[in-house]
Amino acid sequence: MQVLTTVLVCMCVSTMLGQKVAPEARTTIAAFGDVNLGRSVGQELLKGDIGYPFRYVKDSLAKSDIVFVNLESQLTEQNGETQNPKYNLIFCGPPVGAASLKGAHVTIVSTANNHAYDYGRRALRETLVNLDSAGIASVGTSIDSVETFVPVVLEHSGIRIGFLAYTQFMNFKGTWKGHVALFDEHRIAQDVAALRAKADFIIVSYHGGSEYVDRPPGTVKHDFKVIADAGADVVVGHHPHYVQGIEWYQNTLFFYSLGNFVFYQPQLEWTQMGLGVQLMLVRSDSAVTIGQAQLMAVRAGLQPSFVLSATEERAFFQRLVKLSSSQVYQNNGSWFVQIRKRDEYNER
Ligand SMILES: [Zn+2]
Repeated sequence: MQVLTTVLVCMCVSTMLGQKVAPEARTTIAAFGDVNLGRSVGQELLKGDIGYPFRYVKDSLAKSDIVFVNLESQLTEQNGETQNPKYNLIFCGPPVGAASLKGAHVTIVSTANNHAYDYGRRALRETLVNLDSAGIASVGTSIDSVETFVPVVLEHSGIRIGFLAYTQFMNFKGTWKGHVALFDEHRIAQDVAALRAKADFIIVSYHGGSEYVDRPPGTVKHDFKVIADAGADVVVGHHPHYVQGIEWYQNTLFFYSLGNFVFYQPQLEWTQMGLGVQLMLVRSDSAVTIGQAQLMAVRAGLQPSFVLSATEERAFFQRLVKLSSSQVYQNNGSWFVQIRKRDEYNER
């Protein structure tokens, strides 16, 4: 009996070795759109309610290994000010905003956006120090100009995910140059190639396009294709404050705009709805690919939530289906993007 057991164990191991069966590595990444911790949200944070903006979403965010958002506000001490008194398009969050993001399980933020320099260079330094102190990675800005284009690589379950972030434009002329990663189609190929040596999967964050429109302009579609041709796996867009369509271009998945997340814009219907996406990455053999892309409708605002009526959810996804060239479908009550396997495209 003892011998038989040993033989069976040996057979089992040799079969495993023969088939090169390895445990499949997986990790999940969630991405959401614009987060503004300034204006009235900043005032709530200053009152000491650090959990205020993410109170109704943090438990859902905790279900992903990595959580990405576009941080649209600097995090800086401005003596209680969270918005320019004369111009409400200049705003900032307080330093404690970093702890708020951390408490909501946010792991990485893009700081490359048109508000990255609203309160200047010292505020940028503070923002990066505050994020770093809270243990949150940031990508797309730097106080040291030579580091502007340094990517971030996060590793989970042995899968290395590389992030780059760019903005298409800034709100001001001048001194931000060299500190904020401005999208440059002539250098994206070298940025992505350099990151490819260190990462199994590459996500590029792109802040740009036109506000309050359903579809991206030709310039954005062009830039997304340039990023894909450079070798990115996913391009995540934001800035329009509207959710825009989803598209596969060759082997790269485009989210043209995730819309708002923590951003209060009650004036229009679609500024109050954002898109969240959770990608499950799978390593099989040497390649890391998207195993599943689940979509979440977000009620965006001061305190976003995932609570929507059936009618609202239907309207949100009907619009998204219409705007997307890739298949967006419902299964067992959840919504997904049809995954294109790498081989499917290559065989065409
Ligand atoms: Zn913006």
